[in-house]
Amino acid sequence: MSFCIGQGFDVHAFADGRRLILGGVHVPHPRGLAGHSDADVLCHAIADALLGAAGLGDIGRHFPDTDPSFKDADSLNLLTQVGGQVAGLGWNVINIDATVIAQAPRLADYIDGMRSNIAAALQLDISRVNVKATTTETLGFTGRGEGIAAMAVTLLGQP
Ligand SMILES: [Zn+2]
Repeated sequence: MSFCIGQGFDVHAFADGRRLILGGVHVPHPRGLAGHSDADVLCHAIADALLGAAGLGDIGRHFPDTDPSFKDADSLNLLTQVGGQVAGLGWNVINIDATVIAQAPRLADYIDGMRSNIAAALQLDISRVNVKATTTETLGFTGRGEGIAAMAVTLLGQP
C-alpha cells in the first residue's frame, strides 16, 4: 500500500446578500461568503487537500474563477469532480479531517449535515469524514467576523 497526504486552506470574506453555504449546508446567518462560486470555503479546502495529495495542483487551476461556467457553482459538484480525478489515478480516500474557523455563526448543529454531504460527494462512508468548528477567540480576521477560513487534511492510499 502506498500513501499520500494532502492539506488545503481557504478563506472567503463575508458579504451582504449571499447565502452562507458550508459543506453544502445552508447555515442561517445574516451574511454569506463572497466568491465566484457558492464560496463554500469548507469544500474548497477539502478539494485542495485532495488535489494536493494526488499531485494535481490546486482548485484554481481546475476551476478558474475567470470561467463563467463556475459562477455560483455548487462546490459539492466541484468536490465530486475532484474526487473523480483522484480516483482516476487509482487513489482511495482513506480519510478527511477538516476545521472551519469562524467566530459566528455557531456550527455545531450543522456539522453532521456537512459530513454527510461531503461523504456523498466523494462516495465515502461518513465515518471517514470529520469536520470540526472552532473560533479564534475574537482574534484576527475570523475573530472580527470579517470572513471564514477552513483547513483540511486528507490521506490517500492505493495498493
Ligand atoms: Zn474558496
